Amino acid sequence: MQRERYEVRGVVQGVGFRPFVYRLALEEGLAGFIGNDTGGVTIEIEGPAERVEAFRRRLEAEAPPLSWIDSIVVREVPPRREREFHIIASEASGQVSTGIPADAATCADCLRELLDPNDRRYRYPFLNCTNCGPRYTITRRIPYDRPQTSMARFTMCVACQAEYDDPTNRRFHAQPNACAVCGPRVWLVAPDGVEIPSGDPVTAAIDRLMAGDIVAIKGVGGFHLAVDATNEFAVMRLRDRKHRYGKPLAVMARDLEAARELCVITPQEEELLLTVARPIVLAPERKGCGIAPSVAPGIPWLGVFLPYAPLQHLLFADSRVKALVMTSANLSEEPIAIDNDEALARLRHIADAFLMHDREILQRCDDSVMALVDGAPQLIRRARGFVPLAVPLPFDSPPLLAVGGHLKNVFALARGRFAYQSQHLGDLENVTGLDFFREALAHLMQTFEISPVAVVHDLHPGYLSTSWAKEWAAERNLPLIAVQHHHAHIAACMAEHGIEGPAIGLSLDGTGYGTDGTIWGGEVLIVQLVGPDPGHFERFAHLDYVPMPGGEAAIREPWRMALGALHAAGLDVESSEVIALLGAKPQEARVLKRMIERELNTPLTSSCGRLFDAVAAVVLGRGVVDYEAQAAIELEGVCVDEPDELSAGYALRLLDGDWKARKPARISAIPLWKELLEDLRAGASKSHIAARFHAGVAAAFIGAAKSAREAMQIEKVALSGGCLHNRRLARLLRTGLEEEGFQVFEHRTVSPGDGGLSYGQAVVAAARLRQRESAGDSH
Ligand SMILES: [Zn+2]
Ligand SMILES: [Zn+2]
Ligand SMILES: [Zn+2]
Repeated sequence: MQRERYEVRGVVQGVGFRPFVYRLALEEGLAGFIGNDTGGVTIEIEGPAERVEAFRRRLEAEAPPLSWIDSIVVREVPPRREREFHIIASEASGQVSTGIPADAATCADCLRELLDPNDRRYRYPFLNCTNCGPRYTITRRIPYDRPQTSMARFTMCVACQAEYDDPTNRRFHAQPNACAVCGPRVWLVAPDGVEIPSGDPVTAAIDRLMAGDIVAIKGVGGFHLAVDATNEFAVMRLRDRKHRYGKPLAVMARDLEAARELCVITPQEEELLLTVARPIVLAPERKGCGIAPSVAPGIPWLGVFLPYAPLQHLLFADSRVKALVMTSANLSEEPIAIDNDEALARLRHIADAFLMHDREILQRCDDSVMALVDGAPQLIRRARGFVPLAVPLPFDSPPLLAVGGHLKNVFALARGRFAYQSQHLGDLENVTGLDFFREALAHLMQTFEISPVAVVHDLHPGYLSTSWAKEWAAERNLPLIAVQHHHAHIAACMAEHGIEGPAIGLSLDGTGYGTDGTIWGGEVLIVQLVGPDPGHFERFAHLDYVPMPGGEAAIREPWRMALGALHAAGLDVESSEVIALLGAKPQEARVLKRMIERELNTPLTSSCGRLFDAVAAVVLGRGVVDYEAQAAIELEGVCVDEPDELSAGYALRLLDGDWKARKPARISAIPLWKELLEDLRAGASKSHIAARFHAGVAAAFIGAAKSAREAMQIEKVALSGGCLHNRRLARLLRTGLEEEGFQVFEHRTVSPGDGGLSYGQAVVAAARLRQRESAGDSH
């Protein structure tokens, strides 16, 4: 007889771990117990040695699909001569380190029941089991138990309770377990809040969708605005009412087969579409697939995803429904609406009807967005299905809050070897954005019981996140740590791969505040997370500064960027050629030129994103954008069919600096503009010019990396920044760098864009604090 005690850490609550262990113990004929605690689960088993060994082997190998085991500590304890195995009650004390699982798409077993007329849950829109269903979005705090979720107000009927109590049942301790008798229900309401009577609200909603109406549908992490994706008139109506004309809209397709009819999908993309997180996946749109042209104007790919909640499966069970636009229910960049009354108040001028339910959403969570970039999955937006899963840190961190950036904000809490990133919170430009930030922070701090000992923020003094961080830290008397934007980007990429440096960081990005007060974004940094000066960096090289006439206005109006860049390249921006290229008025060009010359409201920038904008303005005539990075995305889109030819790139010139004297090298785009304009004059195609531009930028940064290697003998290159969402650029950089013998690291678990910033901030701060601590030890 042998008895062993296991402490299992990771995501092991709310994922069917206890019933799994219970069944395993029964199968192996072992006695003992299992219980949840705030650290994870504790198991003791007792029986013959070979049985105990089999249990130990199977525990990890056969763990349930939604679980994630971080560690198992096993030790032998004295046998107690027990005969049975049982599940003991949860205990709620001690430091919380178990995760709440992320929300998971309806599993195959539940889907079968949903569509089976003989099942007691036939067409019940809230069925779920331990292998699927909502988790994070319905949970208040851990331990993850029904009273801590928004299912607390629904008392299970006898049949549901019996499943819940039966350790051999798929719904054993499935906290959101429910059926039509005892659980949440759906109904349809008009914009005035009055219920629309119907025998079946789902069918009534489909009738409206098919008639071209806009229906707000309550989902897992918030409301969606839905229209028939094949109906151009309906899509345009949605755009008119949201006042959004350019931003691509996501399309939900019935199943994989339907998605294949809309897009050209590789086996790797299929895998992404089918993961339990069910993210939106960007894939090339099939020509003539029937999707309305206004769904994704100006770009050759489509954001497509599959149903992940039973209510969505019911919509697609109707043969009339082929593809639905399902976009986050909000106005522009505001947070997604989650509450029934809130949705009515905010969306009654947009939606024609509301399909609501009474299972409260406690955490707003947008859909996640992924794409295959350079042959591997990349997270463009990390939210539903991924949050609040922990991201490992390369070294121990004290409890920290890193507040992230400004646009596409995500904050991070760090403690020990893990960081917990919030869901995508959108732009922190107004009060609603900041409210969402506060709400998500309070929730995540409570969930993981993390009390930060320091607050980390971006260097930009004007960011709302920075001023908020200062205030919040002052109230609590906490120290502040400022981290430069692109330093954080590169540190994030390094930490994700466990590299402590030194590494050459290529941060190709939109905007970030530099240590010299200019706007950075085309940076070659040397970053080291350990050593004599950890958590600091050197700026080895950068794109040469160009004027940004009008500051922020130049981001919304790329033609201003183009004018600034052409002026910097020595062209007469008042010439008829330039004015025609920019689609500007002679008077406007004169005003901007004067602003540049007098340095009025004209910051300097080394941003790579802004260079893309300027080129898109000249080549595509994209003078004004409707959403961030639109110009750059269209420039990538126009050359998807061009071959990758690094050597065909336009020339940029590396102007030597002296990094020891803190004088970075500069990468000048002047020759690029000369060649590009020659191509334009010669009538070269837009796709050809766009491809040469991508290749030129990649070759220039590869050249700068080689120069850094010569100076410092560093072989590792980390790629980060928003421009790394660009597949052509990412591919050209990685293959080119590898050909030169570099070891290249790209983002895989956090976003290369500003969604990954807070993770990098936490890494840099932890590196600095670690150094301070060990310096303190030696005294
Ligand atoms: Zn299920
Ligand atoms: Zn029930
Ligand atoms: Zn950035």
